This record gives sequence, structure tokens and C-alpha cells, in this order.
Amino acid sequence: MPYRAEYIWIDGTDPTPHLRSKTKIVPDGADLPIWGFDGSSTNQAPGSASDCVLRPVFSCPDPIRGGDDVLVMAEVLNTDMSPHESNTRAACAAVAEKFAGQEPLFGIEQEYTFFKDGRPFGWPSGGFPAPQGGYYCGVGADEIFGRDIVEAHTEACMTAGLGISGTNAEVMMGQWEYQIGPLSPLEVSDQIWVSRWLLYRVAEDFDVAATLDPKPVQGDWNGAGAHTNFSTKAMREGYDAIITACEALGKRATEHVESYGYGIERRLTGLHETAPWTEYSYGVSDRGASVRIPWQVEKDQKGYIEDRRPNANCDPYVVTRLITDTCCSALEG
Ligand code: ADP
Ligand code: MN
Ligand code: MN
Ligand code: MN
Repeated sequence: MPYRAEYIWIDGTDPTPHLRSKTKIVPDGADLPIWGFDGSSTNQAPGSASDCVLRPVFSCPDPIRGGDDVLVMAEVLNTDMSPHESNTRAACAAVAEKFAGQEPLFGIEQEYTFFKDGRPFGWPSGGFPAPQGGYYCGVGADEIFGRDIVEAHTEACMTAGLGISGTNAEVMMGQWEYQIGPLSPLEVSDQIWVSRWLLYRVAEDFDVAATLDPKPVQGDWNGAGAHTNFSTKAMREGYDAIITACEALGKRATEHVESYGYGIERRLTGLHETAPWTEYSYGVSDRGASVRIPWQVEKDQKGYIEDRRPNANCDPYVVTRLITDTCCSALEG
């Protein structure tokens, strides 16, 4: 039987790229081929030379279609097979390979917000719900909106074989989180992108949109982040390496923050469990710091750190490349 492969790629939308996908019917027994698309329709090429190349980099069972059908994460190449300028995976792959000996691992907490009729899902029209306080990890129809979508998305990720490690309702009504990891830099990044595609696709069937906007509602409402938990073998074995990594991140703070997602200054205000984007800090248990050392890690004198700065709309290929490069360079010195 021929099977369906849904090729997923990252487009050239400015300032925050979007996901695109299309379906290929692959002959019985055949491997996933290199494919292509019209880059002039995705802000990736001029109409006069519109062809862009799709090269499969990760595939998994398609939990929506089932059977032998698959989802395929593809990277975008130019027709000479060099990485397209929108392709951030290639640079991530190079850094991951360079530091593979340090065994870097990432767990990413993907936050997002459901939207319906132009406002966060569950919000009253023309007004605001009760202030934040009861929604985080809440239960009950007065606090929780979209749980059926969340459950369907979680099941889809599990069926696809992604490394999803948990979900929770967030501080703002209509906002949620799931975590992918711990996995290697490329694995976690490929899987975050596929899990985002599944989120949009699953929510589509409920006639609800999911957004990664880092600050969907101005004012006294939490933004949406992608806290990035990180460790190397040395960090999992001792506390000196934990401190070395925290210090190293401080030395390149501006470069990191500028690459952690469009609109980061709207979210990292110093309020709502964030550190101001202009200042770097780290601390044990401190959810007002740029980087948090979990209390258990201080107690055990080993483990991992949480970079709380990345936006929900960040590119995980960029974030994991920067953290790996900054921390592993310092740790090998
Ligand atoms: P929070 O308390 O910040 O909400 P979560 O439980 O949502 O934390 O997320 C923690 C993440 O850290 C999970 O994705 C988990 O897999 C990941 N994690 C745990 N141990 C490590 C480690 N040693 N290295 C990297 N990530 C890790
Ligand atoms: Mn979390
Ligand atoms: Mn969270
Ligand atoms: Mn967190």
C-alpha cells in the first residue's frame, strides 16, 4: 500500500516564521524522498527562481491519520543543496556535533495560548475574566478552557513517539504548557517543531487556534515562554559545572536574549515571573531570575539549569545552539 507523508517545514515569514506542510503519497516500500515547494509563496524565494528543496530530517508515525502514514520534519535547502538562509537547523547540527562528547540534554517547556473569536479561549466578550490566581494547574469549568484539546494533543504526541514529559494549565486563563525532553539538541528541536504542528492541527478540529505569541494580552497577565532546561554530563555529575554554565550564560546575555524570540522585551519586563531582558541574573529556586537552579539541584549538588528567558515563539534550533555553544565552550576550557 502506498502511504501518506506529511512534509512539515519552517517558512520565511518575518519576524517569526510559521509552519507549512503538504502531503506526499509515497509508493509502497519506498523511502522518504527529497521534495520541493514554491518558495515564492512562503517568503523564501523570488518568483523567478522559486524552487526550494525539502530534505527529511526526522519522521514519526502520523497520529492523526494513523496506519502507515507518517509526519516528516524537513529542512529547507537551496537547489544546490546548501542550507537555505531560513534554515537554522544546519548551524545547530554543527554545534551539536562539535560538543556531542559533553552529552548536552534539553527539556523545553512549551507554553501557548488558545484563541477563539479574537480573544483567549474562555474569556468573556468585551471584558476580562477574574484576575490570575486560580488558573495555574486548576480544575473545573470556571477555570479551565480547552482541556479536551490538550488531552487530544498529548495523546497525539505520545502516539507519534515524541518525548513529551508533561502538561499543565498555565497562570493566564486559556494558556497551557507541555514539555518535550530531556533529549539532545537536534532531537528536542525537531520534536518541538513537530509537536507545535500537531498542536495547531489538533486544535483545528476543535475550531480553536493556538498561538505562541509571547505576550498575548497586555497588562497584568502572564506572557508565554519556552523555559529551556539544560545539562551536560559534567553538570549531571557536579555543581562546579552548574555554576560555570550559569556564569558563561551571563557573559553572552545580550546575544542570547536577542535570539530568544521576537517581542521578548514585551514579555521579560521583570514582572510575572520574569527577569528584565536588560539584566542577567541566576539563582536557586528564583523564578524572578534569568536562569534558575532548581532547589533539588542545589541539594543534590548536580543536575541541570533552567534558562527562563526564551519566548514561546523562539526557534529551538537557535536556542539550543546558543546554549550548547556558550556553556560547552566554557565547560571544555
Ligand atoms: P518547571 O518547574 O519549571 O515548570 P517542568 O517540570 O515544566 O519545570 O519542566 C522541567 C523540564 O526539565 C522537563 O522537560 C524535564 O524533562 C527537563 N529536565 C529534567 N532533567 C533534566 C536534565 N538533567 N537536563 C535537561 N533537562 C532536564
Ligand atoms: Mn513547567
Ligand atoms: Mn510554565
Ligand atoms: Mn519552568
